[in-house]
Amino acid sequence: MTVRKIVNYPAAILELKCKEVVKFDKKLGKVLDDMYDTMIEFDGVGLAAPQIGLDARIAIVDIDDDSGTIEMINPRIVKQEGEQTGPEGCLSFPGLYGEVTRPNYVKIEAFDRKGRPYTLEAEDFLARAIQHEIDHLDGILFTTKVSRYLEEDELEGAECE
Ligand SMILES: [Zn+2]
Repeated sequence: MTVRKIVNYPAAILELKCKEVVKFDKKLGKVLDDMYDTMIEFDGVGLAAPQIGLDARIAIVDIDDDSGTIEMINPRIVKQEGEQTGPEGCLSFPGLYGEVTRPNYVKIEAFDRKGRPYTLEAEDFLARAIQHEIDHLDGILFTTKVSRYLEEDELEGAECE
């Protein structure tokens, strides 16, 4: 188990458009395993590679439901529908939470750690987490989408991604 250090805002790597992964090798598997350990250690529901200092289009999401851990390499959003507004946090912004409006439904295409392409549809909170992580890969931070910052007594249901 290797817990990596989380990169906190401000840091240039958090606002970069990350590079595509071209090699689906053992090193990629190790990065994904470390990202999982790091996400669990810091009690997050998702983590993107730039948050551990890597310029690569790799992200994971695990909201502790039936979907398990979703590993997304070079993910691409192919469809978005509807709207949801809810509390959001980010492991790179400790203690900061805000209300963010995002599409309620998302369909993505991505690759798994073996380089196999897959398609995934998600709604509600899972869709929120997936879109938060994919934004990270384009250097887009949730703070650019916050409509209202939340006080401590309003944090019910807020998770860090
Ligand atoms: Zn985040």
